[in-house]
Amino acid sequence: MTSFSTANLTTARPLVFDIKRHALEDGPGIRSTVFFKGCPLSCLWCQNPESIDPGPEIGFYPRDCIKCGDCVQTCPVSACALEDPFLIDRERCTRCGDCVEACPGRALRLIGRFYPVDELVDILLRDKIFYEVSGGGVTFSGGEPTLFMDYTSAVLKVLKDSGIHTAIQTNGFFAWEEFGEKILPYVDLIMFDVKLADAGKHREYTGQSNKPILTNLKNLLAERAEAVLPRIPLIPEFTATVENLRSISDLLKGLGVKKCSLLPYNPTWISKAENFGKNVDPRLSRHLLTPQELKKYRDIFSWSELVTF
Ligand code: SF4
Ligand code: SF4
Repeated sequence: MTSFSTANLTTARPLVFDIKRHALEDGPGIRSTVFFKGCPLSCLWCQNPESIDPGPEIGFYPRDCIKCGDCVQTCPVSACALEDPFLIDRERCTRCGDCVEACPGRALRLIGRFYPVDELVDILLRDKIFYEVSGGGVTFSGGEPTLFMDYTSAVLKVLKDSGIHTAIQTNGFFAWEEFGEKILPYVDLIMFDVKLADAGKHREYTGQSNKPILTNLKNLLAERAEAVLPRIPLIPEFTATVENLRSISDLLKGLGVKKCSLLPYNPTWISKAENFGKNVDPRLSRHLLTPQELKKYRDIFSWSELVTF
């Protein structure tokens, strides 16, 4: 059992940065995916860089900027500058959102909104017919949905009562006892990320230890093996190395896993990170994996059913 707690990382009012309707890649069938803001890990390669910080953030989308200068005039702390490239001084910015209100082109957007449980459920149930005809449902993603156990649990319960298939995508860094009580009874599919087998590299590249994650994975497999789908992100030079993938493969095999997912790297996240003023580690690739690389990595998991959505 893990005595680890995320209590100091949670917020009472989780923010959602996107609700993707008619999603086809976040579990079986047609789904709605709810993306929370806030994550206890800070992976160098995070595909949703706007999801790490639990607070509201200002995104800048250069293609929509007409260089009118209204944001510069409006900002009460002079954090906007009409330089090339356009600059928000992220240290100075208080995230008040005044520039977003002033921007005529939606080049500046406030990311992160709180939805009361009833409102979120209402939105998710609008697509019930699509879930039913396709074998789909609702997926909670992020960020990290288990950072908000009470809120996520409340929404999951209503969805289960309505006969909806439910799934979560988790980094596995959660308090086991609380997860077992508030999430596990209401979720049909747990997509569980396994990034790095080496403890030192895991801490270096994600900011956290992999020890509680691997303990939670073992606990989950012991309790609900049929509901767990381990997912391995393929990040060139970081997770996608033969050494790391062989170690993860051996680990999963040893735990009796029968199926898993490999998540091919997609470099489009880099421009998204830049929109949010995040630094991108220069070691991260700006290219897709080649078919030969993908085959080499899939071959390491040839003992497993490889699930793709
Ligand atoms: S959010 Fe507020 S403080 Fe930040 S740049 Fe916009 S106006 Fe300035
Ligand atoms: S207000 Fe919006 S469109 Fe005008 S300069 Fe600022 S970011 Fe660009």
